[in-house]
Amino acid sequence: MLLSRYFLPVLKESPRDATIVSHQYMLRAGMIKQSSAGIYSWLPLGFKVLKRIEQIVHEEQARAGHIAIQMPTIQSADLWRESGRYDAYGDELLRIKDRHDNDMLFTPTAEELVTDIFRSHVASYKSLPLTLYQIQWKFRDERRPRFGVMRGREFYMKDGYNFDLTKEDALHAYNRHLVSYLRTYERMGLQAIPMRADSGPIGGDDTHEFLVLADTGESEVFYDSAVTDLTFGDRDIDYSDVEQCAGVMQEFTELYARTDETHDADLFAAVPEDRQRTARGIEVGQIFYFGTKYSEAMGATVQGPDGKPTPVHMGSHGIGVSRLLGAIIEASHDDKGIIWPEGVTPFHAGIVNLKQGDEDADAACNALYEQLTNAGLEPLYDDRNERAGGKFATMDLIGLPWRITVGPRGLKNGVVELTSRKTGTSEELTPEAAVAKIVEIYAAHGIGK
Ligand code: ATP
Ligand code: MG
Repeated sequence: MLLSRYFLPVLKESPRDATIVSHQYMLRAGMIKQSSAGIYSWLPLGFKVLKRIEQIVHEEQARAGHIAIQMPTIQSADLWRESGRYDAYGDELLRIKDRHDNDMLFTPTAEELVTDIFRSHVASYKSLPLTLYQIQWKFRDERRPRFGVMRGREFYMKDGYNFDLTKEDALHAYNRHLVSYLRTYERMGLQAIPMRADSGPIGGDDTHEFLVLADTGESEVFYDSAVTDLTFGDRDIDYSDVEQCAGVMQEFTELYARTDETHDADLFAAVPEDRQRTARGIEVGQIFYFGTKYSEAMGATVQGPDGKPTPVHMGSHGIGVSRLLGAIIEASHDDKGIIWPEGVTPFHAGIVNLKQGDEDADAACNALYEQLTNAGLEPLYDDRNERAGGKFATMDLIGLPWRITVGPRGLKNGVVELTSRKTGTSEELTPEAAVAKIVEIYAAHGIGK
């Protein structure tokens, strides 16, 4: 993409109503525009990151054997009356009437609808296990929408639902989700710690939230500092392997890590004192096992191996796709702007031309652009006729992990400058070597050709 042709409405000043850094940077970098309280338009740069995050979620869901569907945002209230949640959900549920005076609602989650799909089409235990998921806009009429996309009213969420014959099978689905979420967040450059949590209005027996540690997090969390040493890495997981998934689940949840709702002072006291930590966290996902709560209320049964109708065991599993942009920025920024992890960056490298119009500089930039593109990467070339300082400030603000700076002076010596956004360190390399290095770095993340 050429910056001169792009739509990147960067702001110089931080808007006053934005109180946390991710909200400020998302507005300043021209990623989002508020349309009303807690409701945003996604501008090109923000939309690109949203799609990158969505793509990672899809890939990891597919890896775990889950099947994508898409359900409507506007739903009939009837199903919600069946489950009892039409009244129970309270003011967060946006209720709508259509022209025939039917009660409708904008989905805040989709247990009812997916259970209806299931009961209409699945009759036998032989079709199990089954996990259906979607990535879809949700609406919750939050009392205090704030912090930009972190607590919106409209937000983008992955919601998945498992259907299993037995509790044991459903617990495997729970563990499988936990494992696949660990991998999902790590690909986004995030450490999200699974913590035992309270199940809230979804209801249920077992639940973990995934929290990203950040001072601006809304949850207070208590944990054993040893949990932050755990990494998923490139483990080879067979998601159908019950033992293996249970083992990883055990490894990542045996140390003390809880949100304030489930915090237990006595258990915490048993953690070695020098490892006890209290901090703030951002909830970026949650998994639930809730047994037969919905299947019994809504008659979602299958014929079991004994020929008898059996209500299925279910769970639901969410990832806050749009909230993740805020969480990633909270976890990765400095005073100049965002620092995108390679896995989610909107563009893979920025090219800054120090002397637009100089024949050699222009040619070198065009060649770099072409080579990176041919390698399956997306560069952003700042080809505007602007001062170098302004170009650097824009690149720093929008946070691309790698920047190649091209000027006539360097080119005389056959070099360009490659700068890491994260460390700020630069090295002089031939243009070919700079491209090769960037290609290699992204290849390690499975990105590029
Ligand atoms: P919270 O406690 O933050 O209100 P929740 O527990 O009600 O969230 P879930 O039902 O678990 O939310 O939804 C799954 C995920 O969707 C959450 O982990 C979170 O990342 C995201 N999410 C929930 N509410 C919002 C919101 N208002 N804005 C943005 N993302 C949200
Ligand atoms: Mg939650």
